Amino acid sequence: MLKIGILDRITIPDLEERILNSIGKIICFNATNECELPNEIANLDAVIVYNKITLTQITINKLLNCKVIVKAGVGFDNIDICAAGNIGIPVINVPDYGTNDVADHTFALFLSYVKKIGFYNNALQKNIVQYWKPGNGKKVHRLSELTFGIIGMGRIGTAVAMRAKAFGMNVVYYDPYLPDGYDKTYQVKEFKVLEELVSNSNVISIHVPLNRNTEKMINYSLLQNAKYKPILINTARGKVINTEDIYLSLKENIIEAYLADVFESEPPSDNTELLLQFSLEDGIFRDRIIFTPHSASHTIEARKEMREKAAISVKMFIQENKMKNCINYNILQRNNYYE
Ligand code: NAD
Repeated sequence: MLKIGILDRITIPDLEERILNSIGKIICFNATNECELPNEIANLDAVIVYNKITLTQITINKLLNCKVIVKAGVGFDNIDICAAGNIGIPVINVPDYGTNDVADHTFALFLSYVKKIGFYNNALQKNIVQYWKPGNGKKVHRLSELTFGIIGMGRIGTAVAMRAKAFGMNVVYYDPYLPDGYDKTYQVKEFKVLEELVSNSNVISIHVPLNRNTEKMINYSLLQNAKYKPILINTARGKVINTEDIYLSLKENIIEAYLADVFESEPPSDNTELLLQFSLEDGIFRDRIIFTPHSASHTIEARKEMREKAAISVKMFIQENKMKNCINYNILQRNNYYE
């Protein structure tokens, strides 16, 4: 009987068992840090990992019997995929479980801010008689007058673009890795230079993966190109922006608002989340910030899809030696594990 380890998050593997019980036994470790994982992980034939823990080279090198690592999720910045590739372990992700859920959430943040829903709601709940003032000092624009800029026109970026188009907005994107022609397919404008997208957008929504090239790519010097005091939305990863620079950009009115589902360190700590401190303690940016706790993809349907697709990936690899969505294939090839 093979041993399949779910390293974090899942404690009752009912969905996974339905898919995997014919090939192996599932063991849940429920770790909150990779240091908690016992030596027994050396016997695992396959691993499913969520995002509660980081899998560094040290832990990966202990997976002596492991044939495949499946990341139950899209972003894989918590796994050292090079370390896995160097010892012949493919890493597979589940790229599509929550595409529409994250796009919906991105748009919900945007609509809530731009139509001042949170602002009015807070005011009316304080005192409905005193604050019954449509407008109430806030300038609200017609959506179709705004340009919605997307950085990273992949699955989620495109799904967000579709929503913005449906609201009659002018949609533009920047994605240097997308082959030519998608601007024509989607009928949206492509900017080949990031600074130009920033300077031409009223809204900027980030949908890139976190990696060496994208870490802190949204920073003070980039945002200084903004002409229209844009609303910045981040549902990708907290480390793609420089938090201190966002604070400065809000303070200097370079950006109008920051709407975020993701943070530099999660869960945030008092010391590291400068932005959180300023919004919650001083309250000076309260009306210009909306935060959610990395909940963009948290729908019942997306959770189920993610778990089932992760289990199916393990089954496909173990039973049929088939892999889809392998994210370290080039590293495996470089090390002569695959042709
Ligand atoms: P995807 O791989 O389909 O798309 C990412 C796009 O970003 C690609 O088209 C790629 O070419 C582009 N890109 C990469 N580097 C870039 C750069 N430097 N500049 C501009 N574009 C660049 O991924 P996706 O499914 O759209 O997901 C995007 C990210 O969203 C994930 O990597 C993940 O970190 C994040 N995410 C967040 C949540 C959440 O709950 N908030 C859920 C799922 C995914």
